[in-house]
Amino acid sequence: MARIAFIGLGNMGGGMAANLVKAGHEVAAFDLSPQALDRAKANGCTLAADAAEAVKGADSVVTMLPAGKHVAAVYADSVIPNASKDAILMDCSTIDVATARAVEAQAADAGLAMVDAPVSGGIAAADAGTLTFMVGGSKDGFAKAQPILEKMGKAVIHAGDAGAGQAAKICNNMLLGATMAATCETFALAEKLGLDPQVFYDISSKASGQSWSMTSYCPVPGVGPETPADRDYEGGFAAALMLKDLKLAMEAAQAAGAYTPMGGEAEELYQRFVDRGGAGKDFSAIIKMIDDTWKAPDEG
Ligand code: NAD
Repeated sequence: MARIAFIGLGNMGGGMAANLVKAGHEVAAFDLSPQALDRAKANGCTLAADAAEAVKGADSVVTMLPAGKHVAAVYADSVIPNASKDAILMDCSTIDVATARAVEAQAADAGLAMVDAPVSGGIAAADAGTLTFMVGGSKDGFAKAQPILEKMGKAVIHAGDAGAGQAAKICNNMLLGATMAATCETFALAEKLGLDPQVFYDISSKASGQSWSMTSYCPVPGVGPETPADRDYEGGFAAALMLKDLKLAMEAAQAAGAYTPMGGEAEELYQRFVDRGGAGKDFSAIIKMIDDTWKAPDEG
């Protein structure tokens, strides 16, 4: 049994910490939100008065925070000054590559092993312990992190050196955002050309236009496997989070000098959808805006 500090017990972290408790670990939890702490306590975590108290004496530290600025502050103020020298630090938040690398360098300067380990899979996967972790860091850091991450996920993959987990995450999600937008506009065009959506699905899902966005996450209600489209686009992966990941991808592309026109277009579309009130809807709901846009092409 390991003693694990867990900081950030929101939608994702709450379920992840509960799975560490279920695996027999002692979890010291801290979050700024009293509701998050109540849930952590009900799930068997021990509550810490602050992040520093959670980290002191822990064998492992897991963080699941909103963005890079939260991660940078929590590591600089609480984690790095208080962590044991042989502890493994794992940041599972989705953040920008530059901050991930900078925080990992600060940890290394203090003689601490740290990995970035963002996840694929949403709240249901966090609760079920079926996340996929993309891990950036040294081989030794990965070897120490793997047994802990395995208790929260179905796959733990070493992506490369510091920041490589974040790079893999945003590249994957840029591809997902672009293919979802393309899938939505294709269904809208197919319908306008008189094709039945089910018939088009049957053809394209077996032809060269096939993608995960079509066959596993079809944005058209009643077509393909059950998806958020069948629940009025509730649940699933919120459009606001897709927009966050696309912004991170565009920021990274700019810093690396990469030309990403499709990612840029996807970012613009999701920004427009979020501005029109779609933030909390599943990201496949962008099909509704694409349909509307075509009905009113002069808008936006
Ligand atoms: P969330 O907002 O529900 O949870 C974040 C938690 O961090 C909150 O409870 C907040 O109170 C806490 N927090 C913020 N600052 C803190 C601090 N200084 N000290 C302690 N706690 C602090 O967000 P979430 O949906 O759980 O997402 C967490 C991360 O996971 C994000 O980076 C997100 O992009 C990523 N992610 C989310 C999903 C998803 O479907 N929700 C999927 C994949 C990845």
